Amino acid sequence: MERTLIAKLNAHKGAEVTIQGWIDVKRDQGKMAFFDFRDRSGKVQGVVFGKPEVLEVAKTTREECVVEITGIVNARPEKMINAGIQNGDIELEITGIKVLNEAAVLPFPINEDTRTIDESIRLKYRYLDLRNERMQKNIRVRHSIQKFVRDYLTEQDFVEVETPLLSAPTPEGSRSFVVPSRLSPGTFYSLPQSPQQYKQLLMVGGFERYFQFARCMRDEDTRGDRQPEFTQLDMELSFVKEEDVMSLNEAILIELVKKFYPEKRIQQVPFPRMTYHEAMEKYGNDRPDIREDKNDPNLLAFLWVTDFPAFERTGEDNVDGTGEWTFTHNPFARPKDECLADFLAEKNIEGIISTQYDITLNGFEIGGGSIRNHKSEWQRKTFEIMGYDAARIESNFGHMLTALDFGAPPHGGIAWGFDRLVMLLENEPNIREVIAFAKTGEGRDLMMDAPANVSAQQMKELGIKM
Ligand code: ASP
Repeated sequence: MERTLIAKLNAHKGAEVTIQGWIDVKRDQGKMAFFDFRDRSGKVQGVVFGKPEVLEVAKTTREECVVEITGIVNARPEKMINAGIQNGDIELEITGIKVLNEAAVLPFPINEDTRTIDESIRLKYRYLDLRNERMQKNIRVRHSIQKFVRDYLTEQDFVEVETPLLSAPTPEGSRSFVVPSRLSPGTFYSLPQSPQQYKQLLMVGGFERYFQFARCMRDEDTRGDRQPEFTQLDMELSFVKEEDVMSLNEAILIELVKKFYPEKRIQQVPFPRMTYHEAMEKYGNDRPDIREDKNDPNLLAFLWVTDFPAFERTGEDNVDGTGEWTFTHNPFARPKDECLADFLAEKNIEGIISTQYDITLNGFEIGGGSIRNHKSEWQRKTFEIMGYDAARIESNFGHMLTALDFGAPPHGGIAWGFDRLVMLLENEPNIREVIAFAKTGEGRDLMMDAPANVSAQQMKELGIKM
């Protein structure tokens, strides 16, 4: 018999159907056995009664084994209806059970809130954790939001372009992961900290409007809720000013909340704005939590932070500059018009304000971007202020400067920390709850056991000695 999805059973009252899925819950009561079955579409209750040969099979099953169930969809009597739960008004009278696969004893219960379970066990058996109702919801909502954004931007003439993972370093103020090249021994690719250079080069390439759900890799020290790889909604637009990028993104966020979280309230629309200076002065940080009620789980306080200094003095952990100054966000942000003269004269460097805008939500930075240096002279100046000599500028960024000289349009963009946004919208305590296969805070994949040693043979091929 053809498979019926559990969510569709209601349309088959009185008929015999076949479902396939997992045993979610099993209650053995001697002459009867009760089950909850689960498939991707939901859950339904089933009962074996008065069928000794079926009961015998039922008794051999265990929760989480995979079964094909044949049964009659019975309407429940009025007083047995479980109002408010899926399929609460029907029950399967089981006429046949076929075990499609057994399940070993679970390392942890998955039909309750798994957030109370030791996370290292959850991560090791992530595929089981993913069967949990909350995790299923998180990953499915994440997908729906991605689809919504894709459709929204596509409607607005954006093109989704995949940019390379094996590449040269793109600085975002972090360390890059490197990948040794076998074919060119002694050389390395860098994994992107963001698609920043590629997206700007797509603007030079005439696309005008680009987006991508981009994986970014940053080799940072263990810092709380960070993942070495994470997802950005990355976009770039030509012929725009700060205002254009900000208003487009604001509109998407408002629509998205309306569509997926009608129970939530955005504290202030249009989103309020604050300068970096004001945020530091009033709140002591550049992503202030401006919620009127911090205990309201349905309150969303978006805030734009602008007018960041373009440069800061290099600190000990600086990985990009060699001189006295380094960029605050990335080196591609252009200074504000009123600061261009000082910038080009390398005067009053601490006073140069960048076009950078960050979007924050409830005290978290959920995105940031800027208008870029679309003239090579400006881009070169940033590197000079950072103390790069001509040779280093040429070898690291010569390709960008060359490209800018071939009629690069004025352009700018933004990237959202997509994991963090979904985390906040779902009221989850950390981003691992909305990432299907997350790593630990130390960057380990406990399920795949990565990072790991490679064979002596592979090391030799790569020309690497430890
Ligand atoms: N590439 C930047 C980042 O990853 C975002 C942007 O400026 O568009 O922070």
